[in-house]
Amino acid sequence: KQLVFSGVQPTGNLHLGNYLGALQKFVALQDTYECIYCVVDLHSLTATLVHDDLADQTRGIAAAYLASGLDPKKNIIFNQARVPQHAELAWIFNCVARIGWMNRMTQFKDKAGKDRENASLGLLAYPSLMASDILLYRATHVPVGEDQKQHLELTRDIAQKFNNDFSKRISALGYGVEMEVGEERVSGFFPLTEPLIEGPATRVMSLRDGTKKMSKSDPSDLSRINLSDDADAISRKIRKAKTDPNPLPGDVEGLAGRPEAENLVGIYAALAGVPRDQVISEYGGRQFSDFKPALADLAVEKLAPINAEMRRISADPAYVDGVLRDGGERAGARAEATMKQVHEIIGLLAD
Ligand code: ATP
Ligand code: MG
Repeated sequence: KQLVFSGVQPTGNLHLGNYLGALQKFVALQDTYECIYCVVDLHSLTATLVHDDLADQTRGIAAAYLASGLDPKKNIIFNQARVPQHAELAWIFNCVARIGWMNRMTQFKDKAGKDRENASLGLLAYPSLMASDILLYRATHVPVGEDQKQHLELTRDIAQKFNNDFSKRISALGYGVEMEVGEERVSGFFPLTEPLIEGPATRVMSLRDGTKKMSKSDPSDLSRINLSDDADAISRKIRKAKTDPNPLPGDVEGLAGRPEAENLVGIYAALAGVPRDQVISEYGGRQFSDFKPALADLAVEKLAPINAEMRRISADPAYVDGVLRDGGERAGARAEATMKQVHEIIGLLAD
């Protein structure tokens, strides 16, 4: 049975990277898969413990989900803190995963910076909580940006180690599900989840630095286009976006080694829903002073309706809370069923 799970942290303003790398895909998947979309508030404590208004940030992400077109009836939309089993399974996965696995994660190295000894233990264990989010529902597919690929690989490693270590008990209890691992067919409790990372904008870069990904937590607001930006702000940020002095290349291969040009072309392609070579066939050889206004117009056209819808939905926090409460109940029932089986598999005396 196929099931999609994904999440976004309430760590700040949602930006174009989140939209193109995640939200837009969430919306596309809701017609073909059963989907669970979470606002992962517990994750947001890993880098910054004290938030100005975490509840409101959480509602803001949920409002963006809804404004992008996610149907709260068709999908389960909720915030992580409502379902305590996320943290419980994460603890078990902390005991499955190895410290060496966590130390190799590039997100940890980037976010911890030089003073690694002073990073929170939660930041190191982040991928373990992420594996729990996904595997609590035994999700088979996870739409994410390119930056999360390594965490998805770790999620598979955790699932595989759990399945191996407990294989006898899983089969004795009859809880195994048949799945393919490479050439082999094996039986396991947790699926080996696949990431869904496709299209021209799986890694949208900062508008100020073509080597850094666009991030909510980047201190420079000019580095990103927020979903809450108005038309003026969007145009100004694109006009100020860093570029090299050359015109756009005549073919896609010419984008190699030009990260800023590649980024803007990728953004255009993703917003227009066309491949990058189609953008190049139209704008190849033209100056950025021609291309940037066209990109700004396109971004405004695509983002303005979402922006307006976000405002409309955010004006009714009680409605958003209702969606999250209802989603939390539906997610909680599934989480409870999984954890009951996990308790039995491990041999924890819990009922
Ligand atoms: P933070 O800086 O707090 O980590 P973030 O912008 O990385 O914030 P997350 O909540 O960590 O956002 O990630 C939410 C989703 O957005 C994930 O699927 C992630 O892969 C995707 N995503 C984040 N940044 C980008 C980006 N620049 N391009 C494409 N996808 C992205
Ligand atoms: Mg992130």
